[in-house]
Amino acid sequence: MNKLSLLAMSTLMLSACAPQNDKPETSAPVANDWALDRFADIQVLRYEVPCFDNLSLQQKTLVYYLQEAALWGRDILWDQNCKYNLRVRQLLESVYTHFEGDRDSADWKAFETYFKQVEFANGLHHHYSTAKFNPEFSKEFFEAQVEALPASEQKAKDIWANPEIQRVMFDKDYMPVRVNQADGEDLILTSACNFYEGVTQDEVEAYYARLKKKGSKNHPVMYGLNSKLVKDSKGNIVEQPWTTTGGYAAAIVKIVENLRLALPYAENGRQKSVIEKLIRYYESGKLSDFDDYSIEWVQDLDSKVDFINGFIESYGDPLGLRGSWEGMVNFLDSANTARTHIIANNAQWFEDHSPVDPRFRKPVVKGVTAKVITAAILAGDSYPSTPIGINLPNSNWIRAEHGSKSVTIDNITYAYDQAAKGNGFGVEFYAGDEERERAKKYGYLSDNVHTDLHECLGHASGQLLPGTDPDCLKAYGSTLEEGRADLFALYYIADPKLVELGILPDNEAYKAQYYSYMLNGMMTQTVRIKPGDNIEEAHMRNRAFIAHWVYEHGQDEGVVTMEKRDDKTYIKVNDYDKLRGLFGQLLAEVQRIKSEGDFEAGRKLVENYGVKIDPELHSEILARYQALNIAPYKGFVNPRYELVRDASGEISDVKVKYGEGYVEQMLRYSRDYSPLTK
Ligand code: ZN
Repeated sequence: MNKLSLLAMSTLMLSACAPQNDKPETSAPVANDWALDRFADIQVLRYEVPCFDNLSLQQKTLVYYLQEAALWGRDILWDQNCKYNLRVRQLLESVYTHFEGDRDSADWKAFETYFKQVEFANGLHHHYSTAKFNPEFSKEFFEAQVEALPASEQKAKDIWANPEIQRVMFDKDYMPVRVNQADGEDLILTSACNFYEGVTQDEVEAYYARLKKKGSKNHPVMYGLNSKLVKDSKGNIVEQPWTTTGGYAAAIVKIVENLRLALPYAENGRQKSVIEKLIRYYESGKLSDFDDYSIEWVQDLDSKVDFINGFIESYGDPLGLRGSWEGMVNFLDSANTARTHIIANNAQWFEDHSPVDPRFRKPVVKGVTAKVITAAILAGDSYPSTPIGINLPNSNWIRAEHGSKSVTIDNITYAYDQAAKGNGFGVEFYAGDEERERAKKYGYLSDNVHTDLHECLGHASGQLLPGTDPDCLKAYGSTLEEGRADLFALYYIADPKLVELGILPDNEAYKAQYYSYMLNGMMTQTVRIKPGDNIEEAHMRNRAFIAHWVYEHGQDEGVVTMEKRDDKTYIKVNDYDKLRGLFGQLLAEVQRIKSEGDFEAGRKLVENYGVKIDPELHSEILARYQALNIAPYKGFVNPRYELVRDASGEISDVKVKYGEGYVEQMLRYSRDYSPLTK
């Protein structure tokens, strides 16, 4: 799914549940009420948790304790990201909350931006680039603020008195990157992350090579996932596991305490066992216990509520061994998952009616069902910046032998799109009110349905002729495959069958998708590409070749036209019905290329239509996009959950609350969920 192609969404998706009415309280300038804050290259959004009230009391209570368990891990990630992070955070928060000077001064404004950046990144380094933030306020200014702190803030004064803290904040050459990937350097010694102490890259690699040699070949554990590797006073290299009695014990004890509180509310025996196995792993630190837990987790398919809590992804370690702490609680989005079930259940009908040569159709096709979830809380490495999909576990042999869970998080993508309203994109690039109105009404739904059709049917459709080598399209293979799935989706999104199945409300909805697809493929997706460069990425190439091919082949009849007004180029779709016919024609051709393994035709299609960008149009688009000042990175403020107890003290409900501001939430987490700074 392409975020840039989305203008707006309908509220159709949430119709199953009552809308949330709480308005966010914030003084920051906002584009609309989904966008809470904007600083540096960041926009902070809120998200809603639709259908939470439809959960049973047991499920709500389970979510409550699991989200508490998630929030208690925050400090772990901060410390993993850099050993000075927690102290710097205390210092910055102290200055931020006690500042009494001129809030219009350049120094204060620079400090405020820096403070918000550090909070967003869970530390001193950018969450994505991992480069250290450089303060644009003076050290003198900051020092004066620390000196002016009241006596109650002695701890902050002590932190500042440490020359290492002053150095890490103000010396830009000290710990400049969190995760260094530069080839040829010692990646351990040059990375600011806090996973190793006193060891070189060679020593780390030798250490794990030895372990791997000794360990299981078929079922290897995830070596190094949950520990710090250090050299002790005798010069021995030892792992210090993160457990209830080891590293990060104060935080992990709180996590386990809340997992135990969640246990009685588990939905079934398997989920109870998942939680028990996670507790056992947090206590033992044994990676085989983590595998046990992962196997149980991947088989828990019946529970409505699900969660992630632990050391999961290893992007934060230059050697890709150690897991950054991460938490997320979610529950099944039944309405949207039902849609993917309907599509998958009708897979054969779509296959039988597709415009491709019958020889290339699958006689028996099985659609793939995707699960759609609603996030209830984001934590650790998933907060505030968060993924829109999850595919776990990471252990290869567990995936192969026990499967994996793949989900998309609908309320997060919905929030992205709500926040994009009013960002000026539609006004700048859409041809007119008709296109904008249609996008507003159907854009979100039609985009999701396109994704469903692409994933559940597109990739699963079609067959190779006997004897065709599946790899013979070589470097063009993935572009053509993504194009084939997109074309299948584009062809069928306009089919009356979708209205008949209740997936789309009427025969207008698909036009929103057709328009945004053409606009994106012909023009706006190139905002991510530097002037003079070609399109390289497979999904971008496939969108470009589809859009340019149908544009050219419909030119005689003016199916799609490019128009210039006031030196700005606009795309106009003049005949949606004929456009569908062209998508069908191209689908038949791409399927033929794949089924027959026609490398030369595939190469020509991609090279002629999917790689080059018209430099003049490109610079026009870049200038128009830049003027919109859309933040490249986004993240989220969480809702709050509160237990409601009746007169006898029994839990009678769980309330979800919105309205907290970005800084307000960060300060509350530091106050209420910070076991490692006490
Ligand atoms: Zn795909």
